[in-house]
Amino acid sequence: MPATIAAIASALGPLARRFDVDVLDTCASTNAELLARADAGAASGTVLVANEQTAGRGRRGRSWIASPGDSLTFSLLWRFAPGTAPAGLSLAVGLAVARALRKVGAGDTALKWPNDILRNRRKLGGILVELLPGAPHAAVIGIGINLHLPAAMPPDLRAASAALELPATDESTLYAALLTELLATLEQFAAAGFAALRDEWVARHAFQDAPVLLSADFAVPREGICRGVDTDGALLFETAAGIERVLSGEVSLRPA
Ligand code: ATP
Repeated sequence: MPATIAAIASALGPLARRFDVDVLDTCASTNAELLARADAGAASGTVLVANEQTAGRGRRGRSWIASPGDSLTFSLLWRFAPGTAPAGLSLAVGLAVARALRKVGAGDTALKWPNDILRNRRKLGGILVELLPGAPHAAVIGIGINLHLPAAMPPDLRAASAALELPATDESTLYAALLTELLATLEQFAAAGFAALRDEWVARHAFQDAPVLLSADFAVPREGICRGVDTDGALLFETAAGIERVLSGEVSLRPA
C-alpha cells in the first residue's frame, strides 16, 4: 500500500511531533526537492517521501533506480549545531537503517563504506547525504531501499542487488520504523559523534579484515585490506605502506 501522511503519523505515534512529513505521489529526486525546501528554511526533521521517484540520485552523478510499490524512497533534513561538520554521518545513517530493518523483522544486513546497505553482499539500499550549500551543518539524508527489485533494473544491476521481500509490506509502517531509528541514532550522533557508533558499525561491516579494491575515478584500483573505520568515519585501508585513512567519498570499494 502506498504511504500516506496520516498512516506514517499514526505509526510514529508520539514521535510524529518530531517530524514534518510530506508524501508526494511522484518526485524526480527527494534529495533535490528537500534541498530546495531546506534552502527556503524548512525545519530540521522535515521528511519527504515519494511513492514514485523518477530520477533518484546516487553519488557522483549516478542514478538510483526505483519503481512504485517496489521501493522506499525518502529524504530527511537534519540541522546540526552551526559550526559542526557531521563527519561520518552517512555511516551513522547506515547503522540506523540496519537497526530499523532488524526491528521490522527483515533480519540482519551488512554495511559497506561509506553508504551502502547489503544483504548477502548485494546492494539492498543506498544512502546519499548532501550538505546544504552555504550551511554545511544542514544535511539532507536520502535513503532508497528495495522492497522488491524494480522492474526497470537492467540485468547486470539486478544480479548485484537485493530486496527486502517482506511477506506483508505496509510502506507507511516501514517509513515510521526507519524514522524512529534515524531519530534515535542521529541524537546519539549529534551528542557524541560517530565515535559512539563505531563499534556497532564495525560489527555489521561487510568487509572487515577482507581484501578489497579501492578505486577512484581515472585511477588504477588499489588492492589492500579493509581494517574498518576510524572514529570520524574514515576508512582504514591497509597496504604494504601501512594503514591509510581514506576520507573522501569519491572512491568505490569492491571485494578483491
Ligand atoms: P558503489 O556502491 O558501486 O561503490 P556508489 O556507492 O558510488 O557505488 P551509489 O551512488 O551509492 O553508488 O548508488 C548508485 C549506484 O547504485 C548505481 O550506479 C547502481 O550501480 C546502483 N543502484 C542503482 N539503483 C539501485 C537499486 N535500486 N538497488 C541496488 N543498486 C542500485
